[in-house]
Amino acid sequence: MKTIHHREITAQALNPYFAADALETVIVANLGQDAMRYQFGYDHFHYDASAFAAGDAYIDEMRRSALDALQHGDALPARASFGRLTHTAQDLYAHSNYIALWRELHPEAEPGETDPQLAVLLKDSRLHSGRLYYPLEALSFIPALKSYVIPLLPRDSHAWMNIDDPSRPNYDFAYAAAVKRTSLEYRLIAEKLTAQQSAQFTGRLFQLETSPIFHPKTKMQNHKSEGL
Ligand SMILES: [Zn+2]
Repeated sequence: MKTIHHREITAQALNPYFAADALETVIVANLGQDAMRYQFGYDHFHYDASAFAAGDAYIDEMRRSALDALQHGDALPARASFGRLTHTAQDLYAHSNYIALWRELHPEAEPGETDPQLAVLLKDSRLHSGRLYYPLEALSFIPALKSYVIPLLPRDSHAWMNIDDPSRPNYDFAYAAAVKRTSLEYRLIAEKLTAQQSAQFTGRLFQLETSPIFHPKTKMQNHKSEGL
């Protein structure tokens, strides 16, 4: 997925939850995963070369590190870890044939209906993602050379398989799946947070003000009604 689209997807998914400056920290960490130094030897950051187990493990590790940081009141590293995992999660749809397989099952469906985590597809032996055939693959990123280089690359290369921008087939489906998945990843973390941790994570302090833990009377009333 190209930088501009990682940004759009992350912003669309997380705008409802994060304050603008907190969201920006998440986005910067997401985009940082595409730095040149992470393009070689970091297949698991991008679900390249069918590194599905390693990609999943990386997402779990980043989720744990975000939760750990929040337990220690460190919002910035938590947002950075979360931003990193959103990048990997979004790349699943742009770099693998998950969307093609999903559309085989649902040929009439609209992009917004895409299920980003259909278990049967995640276990499908046909699921694979593009390999980067360096050094030739690097030349495919140069617009003037692209059309000469791509025909020389195998069909399972990143150049053939990627859905990184709207010019690629199924882009709307990959985009919609990535937005949904990003939102799901947020909820996986959010459900484990106290109101205070959540407010620190998202930078939305009003969540704290409206939280029941700051309204002991409400809490007591709830207990009363439970007893009836
Ligand atoms: Zn990537």
